[in-house]
Amino acid sequence: MSEKETVTCQECGSLFVKARSKMEELCPECASILYGYENCKHIFENGKCIRCLWDGSRSAMTGSLSSILGNRSPSK
Ligand SMILES: [Zn+2]
Ligand SMILES: [Zn+2]
Repeated sequence: MSEKETVTCQECGSLFVKARSKMEELCPECASILYGYENCKHIFENGKCIRCLWDGSRSAMTGSLSSILGNRSPSK
């Protein structure tokens, strides 16, 4: 498995680095929100995280859940 292999998150539709997520089909953000896995400590540059490549996308599901959980959105 390549360190830099990227896949599309099935939940939010963002591209992410597969090696950064605990789940194969979900980005670290969605995996964290939906399943409680450890999230990436996102570092945003030019609209996406330089660690996992998540671009801040949220599905309706993770968007509402994250506001309930009190997570801050990376974009304004
Ligand atoms: Zn996602
Ligand atoms: Zn990240």
